[in-house]
Amino acid sequence: MDAKFLESQKEVLLKMRDEIRQKLKEKYNDAMSFGNEEGQDSADEAYNLYSKNIMLGRVETDALKLNLIDQALKRIEDGTYGVCIECGCDIEEKRLKYVPFARYCVDCKSELEKKGLIKM
Ligand SMILES: [Zn+2]
Repeated sequence: MDAKFLESQKEVLLKMRDEIRQKLKEKYNDAMSFGNEEGQDSADEAYNLYSKNIMLGRVETDALKLNLIDQALKRIEDGTYGVCIECGCDIEEKRLKYVPFARYCVDCKSELEKKGLIKM
């Protein structure tokens, strides 16, 4: 994998990481402050709990993505970026441009997804 491509992927990943971190912070604060007003009846409370869970569910997905981005950045440092961690083959550049934090080649990803082993 050429250095120029790696450098641009690194930039994309770092930018992505900043954006998600920012978004996460906002969402987390939203979810935490949601429904903390006084004097609500139980229907409101149930609704609030429901909304809170949805918000936190989204936070979880972002946190997962953040983790994958960190791993990808580490692989760039290690020089193993762009190699499928399952079968060791090179991941297509086209795929890496689309999913810069991809860990698996297309074949392994669909195989693992089918088995329910990975979400992303
Ligand atoms: Zn693979």
